[in-house]
Amino acid sequence: MQHTPPLAGGITGPDALRPLLALVLDALGEGAVARGGPVAAGGPDAVAARVRQAVGDVLPEHGDGAAHALRTLVRAVAHGAADPADPLCAAHLHTPPLALAVAADLAASALNPSMDSWDQAPAASELETRVTRVLAREVYPRGTAPDALVTTGGTESNQLALLLARERHGPVRTVCGDTAHHSVRRAAWLLGLPEPVTAPVHDPAALDATLAAHHGPPLLVVATAGTTDTGRIDPLSAIADAADRHGAELHIDASYGGPLLFSADRRHLLAGLDRAHSVTLDLHKLGWQPVAAGLLAVPDAARLAPLGHTAEYLNAEDDTDAGLPDLLGRSLRTTRRPDILKIAVTLRALGRAGLGALVDRTCAAAHDLADLVEKNARLELYERPTLSTVLFRPADASDEETAEIRRTLLTEGRAVLGRASADGRIWLKATLLNPHTTPDALEALTRLVEGSTPR
Ligand SMILES: *Cc1c(COP(=O)(O)O)cnc(C)c1O
Repeated sequence: MQHTPPLAGGITGPDALRPLLALVLDALGEGAVARGGPVAAGGPDAVAARVRQAVGDVLPEHGDGAAHALRTLVRAVAHGAADPADPLCAAHLHTPPLALAVAADLAASALNPSMDSWDQAPAASELETRVTRVLAREVYPRGTAPDALVTTGGTESNQLALLLARERHGPVRTVCGDTAHHSVRRAAWLLGLPEPVTAPVHDPAALDATLAAHHGPPLLVVATAGTTDTGRIDPLSAIADAADRHGAELHIDASYGGPLLFSADRRHLLAGLDRAHSVTLDLHKLGWQPVAAGLLAVPDAARLAPLGHTAEYLNAEDDTDAGLPDLLGRSLRTTRRPDILKIAVTLRALGRAGLGALVDRTCAAAHDLADLVEKNARLELYERPTLSTVLFRPADASDEETAEIRRTLLTEGRAVLGRASADGRIWLKATLLNPHTTPDALEALTRLVEGSTPR
């Protein structure tokens, strides 16, 4: 008879997990050593060849056991990873997760609560209720009954925000800046809403004129607190004033910038955030959580009522009347991971001050990088950073050469930088999210870019 593999839960689960975890941890370490940097050298072909070799016969008739499968595949994925824990891996809002959050996430996997009904997640659902309320209160200190939904990230949060606006007002027309996240347009498309209008939201007078000229469906203004390309924060209070004057709703996408709330020194940059009807936050960016850790906050839980939904097997009315919490209206998903556990552990472990210090350190690293670029005659800085994104480029390179530098550093495994178009030119983008980044690493980054610049 085939041996039945052990389970992760129950009294014996930890003993079954311990030796497997030891294997996984060894394989992670070996993979990182084999990689030897932010990303493996050789580009797509080299990585693909190693992965193909490791995965072998994807579905063999007879498996070769947990130890071999774990060691081989984890090692291959670690070897071929772009690892944001390396300070030279700074292309995207791709965070290096905190070890403590990853450890908490292991518990989430082992217990596997599903957040769609109380009988699958008795404790996790209560934890989610408490933690989301507290986080929503950070966003809306003066809200009536602030609450937040846990999402898979900014994309889902923005979709929900547009959906809630549509449920309140009918087919709203979205007005957003040209630097709004692409998920806003996609959400409008998905929800069958009118095509969003692009308006200069960074210029309150121009926005006011756009809103005044509008005749048609109700408006939803979407502002961004931390744009994906430059980290700029739209003038939130002025936008809220304009939205108020014209009876428009306001959603603020603070996927990137939201965690400035934890920083006593930087919180002021989000002034006006609490005037939005909904706010997107993403703790898998400046919150150092493993994916996924999104939130959609609202000032009053009553705003979430349109998501209410009944399925007899999950939240029958008599069960709810008898006191079993009804969870189905807290997401459009059904089966849902308890992403709140790692978030709760992180909040408790670091506190507001600890998280704020991580935010500050990360933003300070971006200023250090901007200083280095400014002092270097061979490099050009786009602008001083607002959050932790720095756009720069070789002073004399063309757009094509700048784009080529990024690809060269990537395929040679030296650095993972992003790219952004701004002011009609292509820039290298360093999105710093690693709170352990040192001045030496930043120097190394600028030297790498100089070293790859054609003369
Ligand atoms: C990252 C980002 C998103 C999308 O978030 P996901 O977690 O990737 O779905 C939305 N808006 C902004 C401003 C972002 O930076």
